[in-house]
Parts: sequence; structure tokens; C-alpha cells
Amino acid sequence: MSVARFDLWRFRNIVGTPSSGLRGGGSRLGFRAQCGIFARRLIGAYTGGQRKTELTTLLSGQNRRPAAFLDRDGVLNIDHGYAHRPDQLDWVAGAPQAVRLLNEAGYIVIVVTNQSGVARGYFSEAAVKLFHATMQERLLAAGARIDAFYYCPHHPEGAIPQLSIRCQCRKPAPGMLEQAAQDWPIDPARSFMIGDRDDDVSAAQAFGIRGIKFDSRNGSLVDLVRREIASTG
Ligand SMILES: [Mg+2]
Ligand SMILES: [Zn+2]
Repeated sequence: MSVARFDLWRFRNIVGTPSSGLRGGGSRLGFRAQCGIFARRLIGAYTGGQRKTELTTLLSGQNRRPAAFLDRDGVLNIDHGYAHRPDQLDWVAGAPQAVRLLNEAGYIVIVVTNQSGVARGYFSEAAVKLFHATMQERLLAAGARIDAFYYCPHHPEGAIPQLSIRCQCRKPAPGMLEQAAQDWPIDPARSFMIGDRDDDVSAAQAFGIRGIKFDSRNGSLVDLVRREIASTG
């Protein structure tokens, strides 16, 4: 069993997961329940010690840390359009190195990604989770780590009725960032978000942090991250 899968199993046993009955009732649930259910389906890779430290820090309310919110498609992996299979994972140049630099600088590294392909019926949430687990395994092999993955499976005009809602987690709404701020000891003043679309920048601004637009064809993610660490870290 891989580290990521083992820790996902353990995380579920600590926090618990919503019942499958709840999952089908998105439109009947309040905002926090809706976004929380999806947001909590994160795949982390922690050692027990690190997790314990996070919880202790969170409870004490001290030692808040800067967070780097990263869009996924077009920032970490090349945007092939609705990528969801492990063989569709191709890193944007330098992405693992950029994540490692953020890890080493003490940032909480959080992926926030719209995955409307789930609502559209193109792929399942299980596929999203497998894709994220694959990313994490390859990052760990490169000495890097994503602390949490948050994804929005909704779209107002999807094909799966229970996911075809106007949610508050789909960017440009800030729901995923807000959920992350409840789950992690984040210092917004030192945090930033990198995305390749205007909706990413808008979500960051709605949450109250700086949003930086990134174009992998015209820039280096590693250089961008170095600059941000130097200016906010
Ligand atoms: Mg993107
Ligand atoms: Zn959503």
C-alpha cells in the first residue's frame, strides 16, 4: 500500500467521511455541508507526527503559516482538457521542483481545482482521487508534497442531476479556499494563489489573497514560485 493511500485510509478513520446517502443530496444541503463534503475528500500524505503537529498548531491558533494555493490543470499538470487518467498526467515544466521549494519554505501547499467533468459525466470522483493520488506519489518520489487537494465536482449545467448545482466551491467562488482556511492554520496575509485563468485570480481576490495568473507557455513556474517566496515568505 502506498503512503498516500495508507494515509487517506487513516485520515478517513480520524475525520470520517459523509455517508453515500449525503453525497446524492447536494442541492438539499447548506453551503458548508456541500463544500465541506467535497473539500474533505482530500488526499494528504503525512506522517503521524506531522499530522499531530498540524492539529496541535490548529488548536492553539498560533504559528499560522503561509499557504500557496495552486490551481491544478495548466499550473501543475499540462491542461489536456478534462485530464483524469494517470497516463494523462504530464507535469508542467518544473512543477515538482516548485512544490518542493514551497514545502521547504514552510508553505502549506493546497491544490484547488474545478473538476466539472464529474458533473458533466465525463469521469467519476474516484478518477479524480486516483489522479490526485498519482500526482502525490510522483511528487513524493521527487521530494515534494501537496498538503491537501480540494476539488469542485459541480457544474450548473452538468449531466448528473445531483451535481448540477450552482455551488459555492466552483471558482471564481472562494468556497474551496475558505474550506481550506477552516482546515489548516493559514495566514492569509502571507498566502497567494497561482492559476492559469481569470477565475483563479477572482477566487483568490474573493478570498482576500493575491492571485497570480500563470501561463506555462510564457513563464517558469519555478521562477514564479521563487519570486513569491521571496516577497511573501
Ligand atoms: Mg487551470
Ligand atoms: Zn462546487
